[in-house]
Amino acid sequence: MIYLDNAATTKPDAAALSRAAQLYGETYFNPSARYGGGFAAHKLMEDARQSLLCTIADPALFDLIFTSCGTEADNTAVSMAKRGNAVTTAGEHAAVYESFLQLRARGVEPRFCPLSEDGSVSPEALLALVDEKTTLVSVVHANNETGAVNDIAALARAVKKKNPRCIFHSDGVQAFCKLPFRLPAEVDLYSVSAHKVGGLKGTGALFRRKTCSLQPILFGGGQENGLRSGTENVLGILDFAFAAENFSRLAEETERIACLREKMWAILSEDFVRISPMDGSPYILTVACRAARGEVLQRMLFDRGVAVGTGSACSSKKPVSRVLEAIGRYDRTTLEGVLRVSFSAETSEEETVQAAELMREAAREYRKKV
Ligand code: PLP
Repeated sequence: MIYLDNAATTKPDAAALSRAAQLYGETYFNPSARYGGGFAAHKLMEDARQSLLCTIADPALFDLIFTSCGTEADNTAVSMAKRGNAVTTAGEHAAVYESFLQLRARGVEPRFCPLSEDGSVSPEALLALVDEKTTLVSVVHANNETGAVNDIAALARAVKKKNPRCIFHSDGVQAFCKLPFRLPAEVDLYSVSAHKVGGLKGTGALFRRKTCSLQPILFGGGQENGLRSGTENVLGILDFAFAAENFSRLAEETERIACLREKMWAILSEDFVRISPMDGSPYILTVACRAARGEVLQRMLFDRGVAVGTGSACSSKKPVSRVLEAIGRYDRTTLEGVLRVSFSAETSEEETVQAAELMREAAREYRKKV
């Protein structure tokens, strides 16, 4: 199987998993237990926290709260919108977008910034929605459907200049360990997820600037300094730290991955429309076949040994992607034919070329049939 759906989830890093499983097998105690085993489990978890923190942040300025997934980290961040209005973009993952739709019931006006033609958000369009009543701004770092990248440092700086009191959050799930980035002091909250970088499903984290006040959405035993109750997923946390450490090292291959993406596009360009911008995440190439439905091609390809994604989690209610529709430049036929190819550091050139040829063949075969 040629696996090219890494934006959906990555294959677990075997070395990280076996290292984490061994430690967890020996130190399975509850990290809140007040005896030696508990202290040992707690120490392992704190070492993992430090390691993850240092990947993109200055530990003097930021801390990190473990969550059950990227979705929970996003929900926690958005819950900090209070009264007034909160600003986000039309290109957010559902974890942020749907949370914004819930804000109205809490008396907060949600505002959605339109996308530029390349799927990113322009600073002018975003700033036009920010005013003195804005309590939170949330902008995705790398879009999961197009790979479009937002300049989070510049956007956060501009937003804070206009309204220094509002909280700036970014969903970094598709960017963490994949794009060169250090958290600037203007970003208050930043969400990440383990299973996008070789870790296990079921662990995420929220980076928090230490001076940014945060309120929990889960209440109970007061773990994570009272910010996220629930016994910590120690295995998932250890595995996340080891996987991220390996993934960051492999991410030095970003240039190579960008070359793979362009190699694939060279093979697809006659039969597909390119949706991903050239300066987007090297890990994502989203294309549309105007002759065939994306999910049909996806199944044909899976049967031929290639796993790729489509533009959205297709449902009968929402057959085309909300995000791609919001870009405003694609007609219905294009939106229905979307495929998302997403690479990992393990993807080889040979696999890329083979997958691209199979994609082209499937598109041509489908075209002949209809
Ligand atoms: N945000 C983005 C940009 C994503 O791509 C995803 C997952 O696809 C999430 C949030 C949600 O992460 P999780 O699957 O860990 O809940």
